[in-house]
Amino acid sequence: MKKEFKEGDIIITVDYDKCTGAGECVTACPVEIFALEGGKAIAQNVGECIECCACVSACPNDAIEHSSC
Ligand code: SF4
Ligand code: SF4
Repeated sequence: MKKEFKEGDIIITVDYDKCTGAGECVTACPVEIFALEGGKAIAQNVGECIECCACVSACPNDAIEHSSC
């Protein structure tokens, strides 16, 4: 199952079949968009994303898709 987090032009998608909840995305994001909820990554305040793509690179399971990356 994939979940989409959207604000303005930015869409971040997390594939929950791939996400293991290890939290590399939480650590990698410089503006704290990611958090863990129930052992899975969620994205919050997506409008504050600076489109650096660090989350996509950091995820060891290719679980994150980003509209700008
Ligand atoms: S880095 Fe990837 S696998 Fe780890 S919590 Fe984030 S989305 Fe899930
Ligand atoms: S692209 Fe950069 S700022 Fe945006 S959610 Fe990913 S790590 Fe955070």
